[in-house]
Amino acid sequence: MRKTEKEIEKIAEGGKILNRILEQTAKLAQPGVSTWQLNSFAEAEITKAGGRPSFKGYGHKGHLFPAGLCTSVNSVVVHGVPSKNQILKEGDLLGLDIGMEYKGLYTDTAITVAVGKISQEAQRLLDLTKKALAIGIAEAKIGNRVGDIGAAVQKIADDNKLGIIRDLVGHGVGHAVHEEPQVPNYGKKGTGPELTEGLVIAIEPMFTLGTDDIFIEDDGWTVTTRDESLAAHFEHTVAITKNGPVILT
Ligand code: MG
Repeated sequence: MRKTEKEIEKIAEGGKILNRILEQTAKLAQPGVSTWQLNSFAEAEITKAGGRPSFKGYGHKGHLFPAGLCTSVNSVVVHGVPSKNQILKEGDLLGLDIGMEYKGLYTDTAITVAVGKISQEAQRLLDLTKKALAIGIAEAKIGNRVGDIGAAVQKIADDNKLGIIRDLVGHGVGHAVHEEPQVPNYGKKGTGPELTEGLVIAIEPMFTLGTDDIFIEDDGWTVTTRDESLAAHFEHTVAITKNGPVILT
């Protein structure tokens, strides 16, 4: 699982590109634009940069994700499938999650953005989920455990009475889209696998304005809150190094 310094450098190179692509994609998320258009742009940019959209074709036989970008609108938590029929409208809360294979190594990053003007409640959810990611990343240091990240993320949700998605978790990343260890958004300090030098993980808080109850829609991918409450998701690929946590995306 451990990555060498050379590998981490390469992951960072890809991560920087992926972050730029995600930010450019987010700027296109305006009322009247379809989620398919966002995906087309993101996929083309990844290919142009010499990468491969790692989410496209992810899954198992007969159940492969059809796009390079996940577009998760409002009560969709993650894994929303881009569609020509899904047109963004003013006030939507849009999660964008993207992964890339670059020089044989994988990165993964996500943000949630406002489409036009969003409600105060939606903005609060967005801000707190983003804050939880930053606070979780700060715990990603040598000698800590996975539970230290989870506990820090959970505290933000608990203090602000937000729902935490528990059925989906962060994960190791780098040699594949998903690797060990799992990185839950809840936990107890000092528990779980130890964070060691060279470990690369995707930390990805997913919060809701309601409960943690989710279901998968008929397409087999889209993860939605059962109470239809709004959800937000932020994610970075992070390396555990001698110099502390290093954000690679
Ligand atoms: Mg991920």
